[in-house]
Amino acid sequence: MHAVLARRRGLAVTHLEREPEGRGASVRNFGLVWVSGRRAGPELALALRARELWESIAADAPGTGFRPHGSLTIASSQAELAVMREAADLPDAKQRQFEVLSADGVREVNPALQGEFLGGLWCRADAIVEPRVALPALRSWLSSTGPGYEWLPGHEAVETAANGVRDHLGQWHRGDLVVLCTGANFTGIAGPHLAESGALASAPGAEGRGLRRVRLQMLQTLPFPGRLTTSIADGDSLRYYPAYNVPSLPSLPPQAAVAAANRAQLLLVQRLDGSLTIGDTHEYDEPFGFDVKEDAYDHLLDRASALLGTALPRVQRRWAGVYSEVTGTSALYHRSVVKPGVVLVTGPGGRGMTCSPAIAEETFL
Ligand SMILES: Cc1cc2nc3c(=O)[nH]c(=O)nc-3n(C[C@H](O)[C@H](O)[C@H](O)COP(=O)(O)OP(=O)(O)OC[C@H]3O[C@@H](n4cnc5c(N)ncnc54)[C@H](O)[C@@H]3O)c2cc1C
Repeated sequence: MHAVLARRRGLAVTHLEREPEGRGASVRNFGLVWVSGRRAGPELALALRARELWESIAADAPGTGFRPHGSLTIASSQAELAVMREAADLPDAKQRQFEVLSADGVREVNPALQGEFLGGLWCRADAIVEPRVALPALRSWLSSTGPGYEWLPGHEAVETAANGVRDHLGQWHRGDLVVLCTGANFTGIAGPHLAESGALASAPGAEGRGLRRVRLQMLQTLPFPGRLTTSIADGDSLRYYPAYNVPSLPSLPPQAAVAAANRAQLLLVQRLDGSLTIGDTHEYDEPFGFDVKEDAYDHLLDRASALLGTALPRVQRRWAGVYSEVTGTSALYHRSVVKPGVVLVTGPGGRGMTCSPAIAEETFL
């Protein structure tokens, strides 16, 4: 997104990626452009600006698969419905385009939802993109902008200097600004700076403030025969998103034990080929597992099947992803100056796919 926003400003861009193709959080996520759950104030404003930018970027790069399909968060209990009603009464509900619906209203908006539930919260401001193909689609637009864009896959940045970066093959790349977007890699090129500046939540005396990593489990089914007109969340998601921090939130009954143990919420997005991306879990303590846990998947598949009111197609893929997240401060992501003309931008957490265009825009302000 930094490359896209830089090219939009007419800047020449050299884009280094250590892998042959992006393999980080940006290709592993749901592709949810998620306005609904954002905290009131600057976080919501950043997400709304990003939503606007996504739409215009996708007009240039339709392969990103952007669609303004909105989301439905489904209530399976009166307590969940009460939280939704309170959230929909807040002053910023209009910006999120919130509407509380009855069970019939939910089915009218998204007829694929044929399970048992009491109602739901419709957020028309949410949208969807296709994470597995968004990066190549953006690069295809970047390449069409002329000779000012150079893509260098298989080039790992290993050393910085003022206004410059050296790749592992020994070549220096210099410019007015170097932006390090190294994701959840806390060693490597950003490592010494992160350690020396005390930016990590694990640093002595950090007391939980600063950057940490979070690992999530995901899966994707074979194509589902029906068409989902919105993305879907279950009531557990009310516990994870700050938009739902309303007076009745503490009245929610405890989560199912397996969901609580895995910090799970159901998020479900239908991909353009009809398959369903389903997640997620949250693991905060390192070292992370190197394997995926089946009990968490069983829970998420059961929840999805209960809301759709039908058996799900066979799972075709399972994976885990790690993002970096800034914690314990009011910052929405981490930006710091590494050297003159070199900045590090990371830590957007679970809102990175949503907010990336607006974060990149702020880099060039
Ligand atoms: C499972 C999962 C689901 C998520 N769902 C959503 C969602 O639906 N909506 C949402 O808003 N957010 C979501 N997120 C969060 C979002 O995906 C991340 O915040 C965002 O993608 C982070 O982008 P990034 O560019 O910082 O990191 P990454 O996408 O990880 O990219 C970092 C890249 O830098 C490369 N790299 C690292 N070091 C070097 C080096 N030295 N030289 C060259 N290249 C290097 C890596 O190879 C990698 O390609 C999710 C995250 C995960 C893991």
